[in-house]
Amino acid sequence: MKVKIKNRSYQYTLVSTGGSSHKYGVCEVCKKHCAEVFYQIERVPYSGGYTKQGCTNLFGHQECLQNARRIDEGTTSLPRHDFDTGKTRV
Ligand SMILES: [Zn+2]
Repeated sequence: MKVKIKNRSYQYTLVSTGGSSHKYGVCEVCKKHCAEVFYQIERVPYSGGYTKQGCTNLFGHQECLQNARRIDEGTTSLPRHDFDTGKTRV
């Protein structure tokens, strides 16, 4: 299996909202209830700063959000389970 690493590197900020799905809604990844909802902000370095163009911010389980991260654009054609069973990147 080849994994290409491109220059475009996504950066992620993961924060706890401190609330459950009762307050923030179900996990946007698995659509299930969360005891603690996390918020993940995706951004890309762009001309000295950051851009959120083409980026997706998500609410949900910490693990789901980490699994939903992209390695880079060149890997999106890989089977989904390659992401789900990957290492946890924090
Ligand atoms: Zn989830």
